[in-house]
Amino acid sequence: MSEIAGPAAAALSSLCPDDVIFLQSLPKAELHAHLNGSIPIKTILELAQQYSPSSAQTTEVADTIEKLKSGVILTEIFDFFSLMPAIYALTSTLEAVVTVTRAVLQSFLNPTGDGTESPQCAYLELRTTPRTTTHMTRERTYPATQAALIVSIDRRMSDLDVEECISLAIEMKNRGRRVVGIDVCGDPRSGDMRSFTRHLLRAKDAGLGLTVHIAESTRNTTEDSLALLSCRPDRLGHATFLSDELKALFFADIPQPGTECSSLSECFKISKRYKPCMEICLSSNLLCKTVVSLDAHHIRYYLKNDHPIVICTDDALPFRTSCLGEYSMLLAQPPLGLGLSRDDVARIAQMGMDAAFLRPRD
Ligand code: 5GP
Repeated sequence: MSEIAGPAAAALSSLCPDDVIFLQSLPKAELHAHLNGSIPIKTILELAQQYSPSSAQTTEVADTIEKLKSGVILTEIFDFFSLMPAIYALTSTLEAVVTVTRAVLQSFLNPTGDGTESPQCAYLELRTTPRTTTHMTRERTYPATQAALIVSIDRRMSDLDVEECISLAIEMKNRGRRVVGIDVCGDPRSGDMRSFTRHLLRAKDAGLGLTVHIAESTRNTTEDSLALLSCRPDRLGHATFLSDELKALFFADIPQPGTECSSLSECFKISKRYKPCMEICLSSNLLCKTVVSLDAHHIRYYLKNDHPIVICTDDALPFRTSCLGEYSMLLAQPPLGLGLSRDDVARIAQMGMDAAFLRPRD
């Protein structure tokens, strides 16, 4: 497994060996990992070495590689997205996509390549945004119970592109390929989510799971969140800045604050039983500075309210983390971790397994 650093590494190194063995032995589901954000550093360096210097992007690639090698420092979440063009430049051929897909699957499911180290997780839903130059690998090494694909829709996509990607996902699913869901991701400042909803609902109707990045930054408006919530996604990514009003409106038994919101409630005909699983990415939120400390993290709110969550890595390449690292942050004592009990951590791991799209849809 590649080296981890930052808050996850600090939490992991504070644990006693017995705790590490406990975390390693827990069956975990990794449900929020972006393919191009999860490439092992070794693989991206190899691709960079083979990269043709004729491209106009050469300097950008070199700069990004330097940042990845020395440790990415972000001032705000939007800086994260400026890393992607260089990574995309290195993964723009079918051959490179096959290479990185194999490497990412291996890093999660067979870290040493020879089965001698236990997998990071028992089940992996890897997500990626289809690009015009790429196709997914036909890799069959990992059984359907262990790995599946989520097709990501980028908020910057045109209506036509969204339509095409959703149709592709539905068609692949119908052909028996391992596509289990749709995600909405990309720069939180872009796109009008109201125009996405009819496409997302079509995907749901076709039996695909739905997860959306939501309220990830202070720039995401209530209208933006409402448009996405109106599709009743099965899971929500980050949801860092979801307002108390929306939480009260959408999530059944979370106590309602004093705000008047019955008209919205009627408008969206929200069932009291709607409890989407929250995809929690602790290192990502800390390093993107959308959350100031673990103590202030919204995971506490969801734990307190017994709301389903799943612990995920998001983008292991820039955030230099792993499944074990993220789970260490649950078990480690404050301020490095949340100081949860083993029983609680085991319960959270089970919640993650239960939230996989692999299950027959309710
Ligand atoms: P890909 O889909 O190309 O395999 O993975 C990289 C892409 O995922 C990025 O270009 C970005 O659109 C999306 N992504 C990765 N991490 C995040 C995140 O934390 N938030 C959002 N909104 N999008 C992300």
